[in-house]
Amino acid sequence: MTMIQIRTVDQLRIDGSRVFYRVDYNVPLEGTTITDATRIEETLPTLRLLRERDAAIVLASHLGRPKGQRNDTYSLKPVRAKLAELIGANVQWADECIGPDAEQKAARLKSRELLLLENLRFHVEEEENDARFARALRKLADDYVNDAFGASHRAHASIEALPLLYESDHRAGGLLLAKEIEFLQKITDVSDRPFVALLGGAKIAGKIEPLQALVNRADTLLIGGGMANTFLAAKGINMGASLVDRESIEVAKRISAARIILPVDVVLEDSSVVDVSKGLTEKQKALDIGPRTVAKFAEALKKARTIFWNGPMGMFEKKEFAKGTMAMARAVAEADAITVVGGGESVEAVNASGYADRISHISTGGGASLEFISGVKLPGIQVLRAEG
Ligand code: ADP
Ligand code: MG
Repeated sequence: MTMIQIRTVDQLRIDGSRVFYRVDYNVPLEGTTITDATRIEETLPTLRLLRERDAAIVLASHLGRPKGQRNDTYSLKPVRAKLAELIGANVQWADECIGPDAEQKAARLKSRELLLLENLRFHVEEEENDARFARALRKLADDYVNDAFGASHRAHASIEALPLLYESDHRAGGLLLAKEIEFLQKITDVSDRPFVALLGGAKIAGKIEPLQALVNRADTLLIGGGMANTFLAAKGINMGASLVDRESIEVAKRISAARIILPVDVVLEDSSVVDVSKGLTEKQKALDIGPRTVAKFAEALKKARTIFWNGPMGMFEKKEFAKGTMAMARAVAEADAITVVGGGESVEAVNASGYADRISHISTGGGASLEFISGVKLPGIQVLRAEG
């Protein structure tokens, strides 16, 4: 595999220019309250660098799925307030991401000042990668910087069409994007072995490519959670009323390899533990990995020098079924290895475990991180690749 090299923000000659900064401020909201500001915090290093270089910064993001319609539920206004608080500066606002008002505000923006644009996805053209929409955005700034890793697997206007309207020495990845690439590349070009992949979550469907990629590269694959149910069912074990991804049974049969280690015991709905070898009865549901499996997986993780983790080991949202996932968070954190965690719920679980600060890299992009390790070329990264 060839190393992916992108032009990074520190290589741009900014000196007081206006920078279009594409971020992923798709934060979880309860009404207008941001319940987790990680995605905003992660952009502070790039914002500080841009301000040190006297840039005037035009920030743009998507939020939720407003499907091309203006919808107050998906307004970025709550983000404006939080960002101002975190960076300790006023954040100006444009109620439309394109058009005369945004252009005027961007043109008047002074060095070190910030302007946040309303949700890009209020315009259907964003998700259509529309050239005219991109040209309208292009009017707002002289340079382009992308830190929206979680959106970089999408060929959307602000991710692909827009940067292509800038000369290659005026477009770059931010510090967050560069960090994502650096660590995910350690998973695709493993140099420190053994490489152990820990996989779980609800389904196999939608994760077949990353699964196949990891089967090809990992020395050991530890599979738990709902994903393991499907693999066990594929071996002819009766999984009772457990979540089984029926459509993926054939895939699971095809993928089965000696390097795959499956659970030997599981926790049922009533918290009892059973061995899987005998199979479950019709009404029994596997909701977590059992203690013998935890010990087995932990032992493999202890020997690892590189670890990639995607997918919880059980229905961790309920405390009774979180033990397996929390034990894995600890084992991954304690391993003397490069450790990377990706995936929406997986990241949530790691944060809840209290071990997050002992993980080498927690990816901010769920789908994007899985596509990256599958070897798929992400449009938002491709346009930023350094030539030569
Ligand atoms: P990620 O978002 O990290 O990629 P997924 O979306 O694939 O992970 O899966 C996360 C979900 O899988 C969690 O909500 C969890 O409750 C569920 N899950 C994991 N194991 C089981 C299981 N044995 N039975 C039912 N649900 C499970
Ligand atoms: Mg998920």
